[in-house]
Amino acid sequence: MATNGYECELKMIEELTTNAEQIQDEVLGEILSRNAGTEYLRGFLHGQTEKQLFKKNVPIVTYEDLKPYIDRIANGETSDILLAEPITGFFLSSGTSGGQPKLMPVTAEVGNKWDLFRRLYESPVIKHFDDINQAGKRLELMFARPEIETPSGLKAASVSTSIYSGSNFRTSLPKLYTSPVETIFCPDPNQGLYCQLLFGLIQRDEVVKVGSVFASTVLRGIKFLENHWQELCYDIKTGRLSDWITDSGCRNAASLVMKPNPEQADLIENICNCKSWEGIIRKLWPKARYICCICTGIMRQYTIELEFYCRGLPLVSDLYACSEAICGINLEPLRKPCDVSYTFLPNMAYFEFLPVKNERDGSIEMKSNNEDTELVDLVNVKAGQCYELIVTTCAGLYRYKVGDVLMVSGFYNNAPQFQFVERKNVILSVDQEKTSETDLFKAVTEAKALLDPLRLILTEYTSYVDTSSAPGHYVLFWEIKGKEGKHCKELDPKIMVECCSRMEESLHYTYKIYRKRNIIAALEIRVVKQGSFEALMDYYVSKGTSLSQYKKPSCIKSEEALKILDSRVIGKYFSPKSPL
Ligand code: AMP
Repeated sequence: MATNGYECELKMIEELTTNAEQIQDEVLGEILSRNAGTEYLRGFLHGQTEKQLFKKNVPIVTYEDLKPYIDRIANGETSDILLAEPITGFFLSSGTSGGQPKLMPVTAEVGNKWDLFRRLYESPVIKHFDDINQAGKRLELMFARPEIETPSGLKAASVSTSIYSGSNFRTSLPKLYTSPVETIFCPDPNQGLYCQLLFGLIQRDEVVKVGSVFASTVLRGIKFLENHWQELCYDIKTGRLSDWITDSGCRNAASLVMKPNPEQADLIENICNCKSWEGIIRKLWPKARYICCICTGIMRQYTIELEFYCRGLPLVSDLYACSEAICGINLEPLRKPCDVSYTFLPNMAYFEFLPVKNERDGSIEMKSNNEDTELVDLVNVKAGQCYELIVTTCAGLYRYKVGDVLMVSGFYNNAPQFQFVERKNVILSVDQEKTSETDLFKAVTEAKALLDPLRLILTEYTSYVDTSSAPGHYVLFWEIKGKEGKHCKELDPKIMVECCSRMEESLHYTYKIYRKRNIIAALEIRVVKQGSFEALMDYYVSKGTSLSQYKKPSCIKSEEALKILDSRVIGKYFSPKSPL
């Protein structure tokens, strides 16, 4: 009997999760036996390969610890100082949340793992939506960045760029996606985006899925559409591509499919011309069954806005992975973003977990002395507990701190499932208090509720600590827009001041005590004009970040990024009183 394309993958997921412990031991055993002779591991294991010795002797490291080895390889030394398998290049991490982009070694095995991962994470979704691959095409916003070459001649590219360059992806592209490859590799992301939307609109009756890797890129696409729909309609009507699209690849791809289609243009124009864009995705792509993009972690702040645009279509976060390692998949695609868990795949890396202790009610703080803490194996994590993720991979990372904090939500067979909690290093601090990404998210969520009755949406926010005057204070940059139109009406200063107070009241006890003692000055909200966060994104993309992997920093640390926001401030509001 013929099997559906996804059944063999679902069976594999069953086997992997059932035998998680044994597979983890095998993965570690293989990594150690292959790499025990490398300069790096010899220093700790002296050629031995026992798990216990690995646990006792190999230190927990960060990128900074491995950087000297990685730099030596990038500069021309053989990669066997760190890993036995020859390296084929590097992944370039996006570098937006943690500062500088990082280089991660890539081998042939890494490439194979990503190919397998793609099949695995798609299978629950394909099953859920009745073999959706057969039903139509995906409008997925995808952006490759040019590769960079290291002094040794090895290429470095973002994970997404490497995937888009792979032969498997390219073969599946014309059948499964609306975007031609030229639009993905267009050196100017705005031209690429324009053309991807154009192709998506031309084929709107075939589109069954809309998405991108992260929620913020989908919203970027919608905002771009808000500013360009008339032009796009004109192009569809006339069958001619706008003159500002100068990229020859995009122009050639368009010339193959564009022909005048005034009826389609009129339909799209009517849809886009309405006062409210609520449900616009559904209206423009009537056969779309779901929106696929990561909506967890830093992306959760975008879910309300996305829900507004897709009205009722499920938001599916299908995977959890990073440039360092592939981690988990979402087995229940229909779960609400706030309830999504990722089931870890034990064949992708050797995973260990550093317990994170609850110091404050409802928020978390790291243990400062990692050396004293036993790392927990994948199958031994406890439900309800938070951990920092540590990975050992086939590509030269040994007990490497990824910087993500996760909470165990349950188990699937014997493999744990995790909810993403936050990036570990995003912390605001004026004095001894520490405010995490989660603390900030909660406080912003409380405060922005005050905008609801005014039919205003907080579309973006970020933060920074202003120490230019003493005492220092927290600054929140907010971009706000009206639900019915593009621009928000005059903001009511009283409400904005109230938002500042509400934020302070919602922050943790230590913050409030310090505020009371005037160790921290009044919290400030700086409202920025529409498009400011797009300018911030453009800045990071111009610095080399892939638009597909862009994650807005929760806390601004770069002077240049700060200037971009500060130069667009249209209103400043301060909390009027201490919250205690
Ligand atoms: P990159 O540096 O571009 O490889 O980004 C990897 C990081 O993106 C991870 O370490 C996480 O912080 C974040 N990330 C990836 N997948 C998810 C997810 N499903 N939910 C939340 N955050 C994610």
